[in-house]
Amino acid sequence: MTARPLNFYAGPAILPLEVLRQVQAELLDFNQKGLSVLEISHRSKDYDAVNKAAEADLKEIFSIPDNYRVLFLQGGASLQFAMVPMNFLRGGKADYVNTGVWAKKAIKEAKLFGQVHVAASAEDKNFSYIPDISALDLSPDARYVHITSNETISGTQWQEYPDTGDVPLVADMSSDILCRKIPVSRFGLIYAGAQKNLGPAGVTVVIIREDMIKLCPENLATMLSYKTHAENDSLYNTPPVFSVYMVGLVLKWIKKQGGLAAIEARNRKKAARLYDVLDRGDFYRPTTAGKDRSLMNITFRLPSEELEAKFLAESAAAGMLGLKGHRSVGGIRASIYNAFPPEGVERLIEFMKSFEAANG
Ligand code: PMP
Repeated sequence: MTARPLNFYAGPAILPLEVLRQVQAELLDFNQKGLSVLEISHRSKDYDAVNKAAEADLKEIFSIPDNYRVLFLQGGASLQFAMVPMNFLRGGKADYVNTGVWAKKAIKEAKLFGQVHVAASAEDKNFSYIPDISALDLSPDARYVHITSNETISGTQWQEYPDTGDVPLVADMSSDILCRKIPVSRFGLIYAGAQKNLGPAGVTVVIIREDMIKLCPENLATMLSYKTHAENDSLYNTPPVFSVYMVGLVLKWIKKQGGLAAIEARNRKKAARLYDVLDRGDFYRPTTAGKDRSLMNITFRLPSEELEAKFLAESAAAGMLGLKGHRSVGGIRASIYNAFPPEGVERLIEFMKSFEAANG
């Protein structure tokens, strides 16, 4: 096999090589069936075991309490932007914290279904920080409070979560789920597209507290109600079987690494190494500062757009792919999800040092 490039893509993103090898080895013959997991019925015993193991392993790794369900849905996190208000807003009021591009997309959808109150916004400083949780303007009559736990584009991440009392806290964790331990019991609902830390694109994980399921209205289209998917163990219709199977393998890989504590320690070290380089001089200019910096998406600029283009071309030639910032903001973004190896971070740092020496 030719050497694999270092994969800094923001999503779909790097997967553990071990997992890819297992998928390859099992592709033609899954569970000694002589058939691929892609070809067997989602009602078969073999697929049922895949579905159940993925739910059980996620519950174990993420310490999800017993009164929560794990659902495997389709439509991406983008459909969750609409499903959350369809199920829970319904003409009422909800609080949203505007932390960036993804939060704004969630707000846009919610406005179709009720009143949106922006409890805080970081737009005044180009989404370079997370609003102070003690200063959130929360409404006592909100049906829920929505946050985006990691803004993939601007590179910020909530380090602590607001206490919303009896009002359910809902979070888009698409780009940081399973990067660290969090108190799941503080949330009414968590959703995440799988294609960063969990597996391939095509499945969206929803973690929902049981009392929230009871709130889903009866007059919703069947596929858009969380109740349908909870009552049918995510098997109401044909699920994205291959994606769920791969999420299952990634979860087993996390367990083998030592679980979330080990993953979190590794993630913290990787991010600290990179931020340390960014903070050292004035050639590289981090776009975020202080405690709100993301462990997953590290964003920075160079002194000019010309130098950024040169940085991207030379890093790609050196086998580092996906470092271009999101098209809406430009600059450089290193996405270093769970599966991204610490040695890869060291290679990027070496490259950055020699690029600075030659161009600084
Ligand atoms: N939320 C966040 C934080 C994201 O990073 C993304 C995708 N990059 C989305 C939502 C949208 O996810 P999807 O493409 O799965 O709809």
